[in-house]
Amino acid sequence: MSENCLFCKIARGEIPSRKVYEDGDVFAFHDINPVAPVHFMLVPKLHLGSLLDANEKHAALLGKMLLLAPRLAREQGLENGFRTVINSGKGGGQEVFHLHVHVIGGGNIPPMVKRD
Ligand code: 5GP
Ligand code: ZN
Repeated sequence: MSENCLFCKIARGEIPSRKVYEDGDVFAFHDINPVAPVHFMLVPKLHLGSLLDANEKHAALLGKMLLLAPRLAREQGLENGFRTVINSGKGGGQEVFHLHVHVIGGGNIPPMVKRD
C-alpha cells in the first residue's frame, strides 16, 4: 500500500468510486472520465507503480487480472468484445502511477493505431 496513491485510496474505499468488482487481490471501478459507454479499470490491491515494476512474483496476480477482464466485461454488457489498455510509465502516457488495466467497450471502438 502507498499512503498517497490515488488508486490505493480508491481500493481501500477512502475515496469513493463506482465499484465493478472486488476480491482480496483486485478492485475494479468505473473510470471517472470514460472514453466509451463502458470504461472501467482493474487494479491490484497491492501497490505496483506499473508493469515496469512487475516481476515473476506478480505473475499470478497479473494473470488473474487479465482473466477477470473478459468476465467483468461480459457482466458490464460487453458481449461483443472489449479493448484492454495498460499504459506503462510516462513514455506510455500513464497518468496515475498505480498499475491498472483499462477495459473499454460499447459504441464505436475505432482501430487503435491510425495508419495513413
Ligand atoms: P492512465 O492515463 O494512468 O492509464 O489512466 C488513469 C485513468 O484514471 C484516467 O482514465 C482517468 O480518467 C482515471 N481517473 C483519474 N482520477 C480518477 C478518480 O479519482 N476516480 C476514477 N474513478 N478515475 C480516475
Ligand atoms: Zn497505489
